[in-house]
Amino acid sequence: MRDQLRDKDASSRLLLKRIREIMAEPLAPQDRLDRMVGQIAQSLVAEVCSVYALRADGVLELYATIGLNPNAVHLSQLRLGQGLVGTIAAASRPLNLAEAQKHPAFEYLPETGEELYHSFLGVPILRAGRTLGVLVVQNEAHRVYGDDEAEALETVAMVIGEMIATGDLKSLSSTGVELDLAKPVTLHGAALSEGIGLGHVVLHEPRVVVTNLFNDDTEAELGRLARALSGLRLTIDDMLSRGDVAFEGEHRDVLETYRMFAHDKGWVDRMEEAIRNGLTAEAGVEKVQSDMRARMGTITDPYLRERMSDFDDLANRLLRQLISGDASHRARSLPGDAIIVARNMGAAELLDYPRERVRGLVLEHGAPTSHVVIVARAMGIPVAGHIKGVVAMANAADEIIVDGLAGQVHLRPQPDVEAAYAEKVRFRARRQAEYRSLRAEPSLTADGEPFSLLMNAGLLVDLPQLEQSGAQGIGLFRTELQFMIAATFPRAEAQERLYGSVLDAAGQRPVTFRTLDIGGDKVLPYFRNAPEEENPALGWRAMRLALDRPGLLRTQVRALLKAAAGRELRLMLPMVTELAEIDRARAMITREVKHLSRFGHGLPLKLRIGAMLEVPSLLFDLDGLMGKADFVSIGSNDLFQFMHAADRGNTRIADRFDTLGPTFLRALKSAADAARRHGTPLALCGEMAGRPAEALALAALGITTLSMSPAAIGPVKAALIRAEIGTLRQRMTDALESGSTATDIHRLIGESADSSGIAL
Ligand code: PEP
Ligand code: MG
Repeated sequence: MRDQLRDKDASSRLLLKRIREIMAEPLAPQDRLDRMVGQIAQSLVAEVCSVYALRADGVLELYATIGLNPNAVHLSQLRLGQGLVGTIAAASRPLNLAEAQKHPAFEYLPETGEELYHSFLGVPILRAGRTLGVLVVQNEAHRVYGDDEAEALETVAMVIGEMIATGDLKSLSSTGVELDLAKPVTLHGAALSEGIGLGHVVLHEPRVVVTNLFNDDTEAELGRLARALSGLRLTIDDMLSRGDVAFEGEHRDVLETYRMFAHDKGWVDRMEEAIRNGLTAEAGVEKVQSDMRARMGTITDPYLRERMSDFDDLANRLLRQLISGDASHRARSLPGDAIIVARNMGAAELLDYPRERVRGLVLEHGAPTSHVVIVARAMGIPVAGHIKGVVAMANAADEIIVDGLAGQVHLRPQPDVEAAYAEKVRFRARRQAEYRSLRAEPSLTADGEPFSLLMNAGLLVDLPQLEQSGAQGIGLFRTELQFMIAATFPRAEAQERLYGSVLDAAGQRPVTFRTLDIGGDKVLPYFRNAPEEENPALGWRAMRLALDRPGLLRTQVRALLKAAAGRELRLMLPMVTELAEIDRARAMITREVKHLSRFGHGLPLKLRIGAMLEVPSLLFDLDGLMGKADFVSIGSNDLFQFMHAADRGNTRIADRFDTLGPTFLRALKSAADAARRHGTPLALCGEMAGRPAEALALAALGITTLSMSPAAIGPVKAALIRAEIGTLRQRMTDALESGSTATDIHRLIGESADSSGIAL
């Protein structure tokens, strides 16, 4: 048995040796390919050997053959999925048939003269998980090809894949015909951060290009693989023990899975087999990775896909380990219009890229609330997420367009698509210029009502937007973001430094700091004491957690008080559910003030303690709330989700209910009326504030201080300065009293906007 195995390995190796010699000869591409098919046929004792290359139009074209009619080369064509060859390409799987004609997909191509041949072995030509063509051998006799022969054919197919990928076969195509590698593709996913970016692909995890395919010494290569594997295992252990997994952008469970897979015997065996067949260690890793990626494309089970992706990441790490001796990716030069393509990444990794060179981000994963997306949004980088398969499809430096509005990616776009997008970008730029020109205009509606537009922020990278957007201040500073992108709890000094920088950047403009709103969907990976909750949005979060763990809040309040010494400090409490929570928080804050003053620290000149109105219970104690809080800000994201029992992160129900529905507007109106009665300043800082139609409705209800993402300030201001708010107010009040529907209200706002020349 052992001897037999050794014999098989030896014949595979011999074939690869011959192929290597052919590659080294100074031959024209067609001659080289012809020599290769001849050599393969001879080694596998087959009468026929043919190569089909997949073209961009989905056609498999015969590029070389021995045994079939030579005149059929470049003429014989099959569609993807048509015949045996098309089936192999479509499924990215080999077919090994003793009686080819009996296979349901068999299709006879008269120009080839292949009717004589009964047995058939075909394998996909793969590279980086993509099928670039098909390699086939055929015999007249009813013969069953062995696994070793299939393996040998796959190994040679890999070499041909390299030839296709490096453009060697380009000159063989007729004019106007492109091979599949250059095919334009449009991929659909989720819109995660708005904007449009045109540029060139930068693979976040650069694909290691394996150029050295053939091994000279199998034992030495096996040794290299073993050493690289143990290096990889050590790196993973090290990352796990360092505990700075959040910084690496990877969660602990992913690393645990990596560790398990790095010891997976099946994976290691397959790589060793490829080396025994004559490949170098890196080519062996790549071959197994390619097989895996191709299979990944056909798997629909999300769990299995995820596991296959883990193997894929691991193979990348292993390749880097083999080639550079370092499993992490290295700094590299970036084009000036980089669109970063990644499976996923941590927020800190995005911050490592120079901002001025990044035009967009494309993720295979990513959720609206994932850290990297939050940071990208803050930096104004367009993001499309859930773009399945993009990492395998994209080649470094390919042209690419990311559409963060539609959640789409156009890879290698055709000229007309590119022109259309370039026009869109120019249009948006013109609009931005128009908004910029509004910055100096007073914030007054057409009929003279003042309004105030503020921005939401949470990170240092947000601060330049304060100037650029023309915001009158920061209406919501989400302090938890600093905690969410950190690897461990930010220390008191780091908190104080951030708050101080924010106040410095704001100058005379007001800043409202919201105390920590963690829990729910705002998860801190290092906060390990948090118990698993069935309904985290309704769970131990925000004020509940802060009051139970006063140490956290105390540290934060102290940092805020110190940072605001000599200036005004506006503190806002999130997720207040009952008024007693405000009392408890105020008592605690007062204690901190006393403590600091006892130790001679400078204190804020003015301290205001406000509350968020985002839990519906407070709607039934509005007078109590307005009497107790120094100011109130409506968190419409949460208030809406809790009023409608509709998870804000669930895309399935995202469009089901309408923020312009009469029940929600009545709730907002009652808050506005109560604030007016008490003279309590009221703002709204949820996403609806940034939508011009909603902003008009809010102003009409009497909510004229709005805090939103910086990009929304221009469009909202453009709408409000043209609005006749008094008239709209009257019509809205009538509508809410007369049982109007959401559709009626949309119509009403639409008409009012039209008559004032507002583009919504
Ligand atoms: C809200 O709930 O509307 C809000 C502004 O807070 P967050 O989105 O941070 O929960
Ligand atoms: Mg909220």
